Amino acid sequence: NAAKQAAQTLVWYNPAQEAARLSHLGLLSDLRVAVSTSQLQMWLQPKFSLHTGQAVGAEALVRWQHPTRGFVSPAEFVPFAEQTGAITQVTDWMLSQAMHTLAAWQHQHPELSLSVNVSTRDLQDPTFCQRVLHLLQQHGIAPHHLRLEIVESGLMQDTHASIALLHRLRSLGVQLSIDDFGTGYSSLAYLQQLPVTELKIDRSFVTHIEDLPGTQRLVKTMIEMGHGMDLLVTAEGIETEAERAVLQRLGCDVMQGYLGSRPLHGVALQAWLDGLSTSAPAGPDAHAPQP
Ligand code: C2E
Ligand code: MG
Ligand code: MG
Ligand code: MG
Repeated sequence: NAAKQAAQTLVWYNPAQEAARLSHLGLLSDLRVAVSTSQLQMWLQPKFSLHTGQAVGAEALVRWQHPTRGFVSPAEFVPFAEQTGAITQVTDWMLSQAMHTLAAWQHQHPELSLSVNVSTRDLQDPTFCQRVLHLLQQHGIAPHHLRLEIVESGLMQDTHASIALLHRLRSLGVQLSIDDFGTGYSSLAYLQQLPVTELKIDRSFVTHIEDLPGTQRLVKTMIEMGHGMDLLVTAEGIETEAERAVLQRLGCDVMQGYLGSRPLHGVALQAWLDGLSTSAPAGPDAHAPQP
């Protein structure tokens, strides 16, 4: 019948998909321009200890203010940029921005770490480790303040070379996080070989967890497994007090999500941190001017 035939035709030619593909081609050349003309911004989402309530750091999230399309979400352009390789320019830009932030924190908030998302594409580049090391040295940053996040599903495609690269980064002292944990089907044997220091439980396990006993058991197991491997365990996407309470009761270490804070523009985050530091004991740097 006609409907069935139409549905089958859609498999072969989907005009919406084709339009999206073509518009992505436009976005790609725009993205190369974006990196060099400050259309990209680094926003920061704070992370908080579930044990003490204190801020422990932030995750850097890229934002693209396109001149004609307006705001383009990373969910839209990052996967595409990964396919084309343009992501490496985004990563380099985000890393260099992150270094400026870490350099400022080093004096005023040495307890904070900053997480930067890296793509498996970056890990295939043998010069990546050198570039990270060079940036850390150039800005005088202790490597353990930097965390690199790699999505679990990406780790599954890793080659021996990229795993060797992870080991090199770790041996420099850089922290490594598995992002979106629980969505990538990695085996425990495989995970154990990775030199990671943090597990970030994906938001899909966190949403409405207070109503889902099965998910609670699963997440409890993830947390225990993480702790058994000496990893810091973070929950992503906590939006409600009920979700926070469950994750805290299950022993999760760190929370990230709209409940704690939405991602903030760098200037807004710095203002918020300055407010925090007024309640901290005043050191010699407490009133130093901002960079
Ligand atoms: P991610 O690394 O898992 O980052 C967390 C995402 O969840 C962010 O979306 C953040 O804004 C969002 N989020 C945080 N808390 C909540 C919450 O409570 N509720 C909900 N609904 N969402 C929350 P964003 O910024 O749109 O980024 C999406 C993804 O794009 C990131 O997921 C990451 O995989 C990728 N991405 C972002 N920035 C970069 C980057 O600089 N480089 C690379 N390679 N990927 C990036
Ligand atoms: Mg991330
Ligand atoms: Mg994530
Ligand atoms: Mg995610």
